[in-house]
Amino acid sequence: MSLLLDSSAPTPQDLTGRTVVVVHTHPDDEAVFTGATVRRLADHGARVVLVTATAGELGTPRVPLLGRPIGQVRKAELERAAELLGVARLVLLGRRDSGLPGWESGQHPRALIRADLPALARTLAALVESERAEAIVGYDADGIYGHPDHIAVHLLARHAAGLAGVTSYDATVDREHLHFAGEHVLDGAGGNRSYGRVTAEISVAVAATPRELAVKRAALLAHASQIDEVMLGDRFTETYELEWYLRRGPRALLDDLGNAHALAPV
Ligand SMILES: [Zn+2]
Repeated sequence: MSLLLDSSAPTPQDLTGRTVVVVHTHPDDEAVFTGATVRRLADHGARVVLVTATAGELGTPRVPLLGRPIGQVRKAELERAAELLGVARLVLLGRRDSGLPGWESGQHPRALIRADLPALARTLAALVESERAEAIVGYDADGIYGHPDHIAVHLLARHAAGLAGVTSYDATVDREHLHFAGEHVLDGAGGNRSYGRVTAEISVAVAATPRELAVKRAALLAHASQIDEVMLGDRFTETYELEWYLRRGPRALLDDLGNAHALAPV
């Protein structure tokens, strides 16, 4: 389905001097859900501040860690992916992966779900203000696929946007599009295909150019402890070329990416 693509759309305007804070839960989420968007923002002069809440300590390693703690490995992978995507500043919140409901990991004192979210939102709002960012990107209200730490990031980003008085974009996936696409890493994350939102709910969609998509793929593969070529499948383009957002608040810089479309009134 290429409903959202419009090759006749104007090229993105110069975004120099404009800043967005993009908040994610685990290392690799930035590439999976927003990789092409971040690369395009950077290529057009915007400053992208990436905030990652946890080090993804509960991710199942797909490669030998050679004695290194997984959080350390994943932070290094995140730094490499951020570099590929053109991130100007990477901020780690230092919380711990809480795991799924009922897991003992959720009891860890640094587990993200045990954090004082209003206090963390104030920290994030202060970052937005000090960076003079015009928008925050978080997740939809279900954290895209229901992971408690993704839902926590939704709450965090939404609350911080309110405190700072800026637009928030909730990253999501178009489940109708993915229904017809190839295997998505969300499938392996325990999600079923009721994740994300339906097409009519999407405010903004970004369609990656072939070059942006190649960078996104490289950023995904930089997370080698979690993602390999096999997982990305043989229908990579149709599965990963689009990125989707719900906007709350006035139009901001994600609406100025050229082939982004406002599909639903907000
Ligand atoms: Zn995640």
